[in-house]
Amino acid sequence: MSVRVGINGYGTIGKRTAYAILKQDDMEIVGVTKRRPSYEARLAVKQGIPLYVPGEENIPAFEKEDIPVAGVLRDLLQKVDIIVDCTPGGVGETYKPLYEEAGVKAIFQGGEDHSVAGISFNSFANYHESWGAQFSRVVSCNTTGLIRTLYPLDRVFGVEKVFAALVRRGADPGDIKGAPLNAVEPSLKLPTHHGPDVQSIMPWLNIHTMAVKTPTTMMHVHCITADLRRKATDVDILSVWDNVPRIKFVSGRHGIKSSAQIMELARDLNRPRGDFMEIIVWEDGVKVEGGTLYYYQAVHQESDVVPEIIDCIRAMMKLERDPLKSIRKTDRSLGIGK
Ligand code: NAD
Repeated sequence: MSVRVGINGYGTIGKRTAYAILKQDDMEIVGVTKRRPSYEARLAVKQGIPLYVPGEENIPAFEKEDIPVAGVLRDLLQKVDIIVDCTPGGVGETYKPLYEEAGVKAIFQGGEDHSVAGISFNSFANYHESWGAQFSRVVSCNTTGLIRTLYPLDRVFGVEKVFAALVRRGADPGDIKGAPLNAVEPSLKLPTHHGPDVQSIMPWLNIHTMAVKTPTTMMHVHCITADLRRKATDVDILSVWDNVPRIKFVSGRHGIKSSAQIMELARDLNRPRGDFMEIIVWEDGVKVEGGTLYYYQAVHQESDVVPEIIDCIRAMMKLERDPLKSIRKTDRSLGIGK
């Protein structure tokens, strides 16, 4: 029997999650919620996805626009096994009592604190911790990126200490609010929350982070140094990453010198929406000197968490015990991988 999934909040992450669920054979999308009758609401209906609204007060605006509404969130919760909360950061936790009352499992996103679920999720690093769980949280795009490359390194070489400087996109491409137009804005609360967020999955890791927001919509770029416990060469590092899922190499020598060219590559590869769900590492930007590794990676903020959400559903619903099997199944269905 296929697992019945609902999505609360049909924005950047919610619509990509819906698309990814449509591609799975062991889960189905029962409905999504939308607060306002936007073009995205129309597109959901056009794709045959039942549209719900958070509460009765939201219905008249949809009626006025002739967009059919299947019910309110409470109705949707009666029909699902699991809800993926994709509302904006801080909003998800306000819905937790409703999910609890309805007795459905729920996945929260990285905009919520770890405490919302008490478990944070990364497919490769700690799939089993969410096995059968009532609540879990898929960590943010940046945290997912850091864990994808650091966890395998730690397993093979041991990581003594990490420093990461995060050069963050100012806003998502479809977002017309909030980005600095002609400025670089440092996060003044130091060290930034990204280090502790990585520790919600790798509590033993000594990691510190800083971040600046920049006037681009195209990806986050991380500049990372990691002190390794065991000796490694550049080639050893690349070979570890080559053998784990969801890390893709690009090369400046082949003309990919920036996040803009990575996004162009995603479009050239006909990736849906021009998304890149893997973490992108510049293979000619990897250097070990003494015991310290230096590298750059790029994170497609709108999509890297989506395959993790699918795996998290499988773990929480006990659909697949082996994390690697789930990862491979997800990646095949979404056309991502090496
Ligand atoms: P978004 O603003 O693009 O989408 C949020 C959706 O929720 C919108 O459709 C909005 O109308 C709806 N919404 C707002 N308030 C609501 C409410 N009270 N009830 C129901 N729906 C409501 O946001 P997003 O970028 O998709 O982010 C969602 C979550 O994913 C956040 O926790 C965020 O931190 C996390 N996340 C975002 C990114 C990213 O770069 N966009 C990456 C990884 C994780």
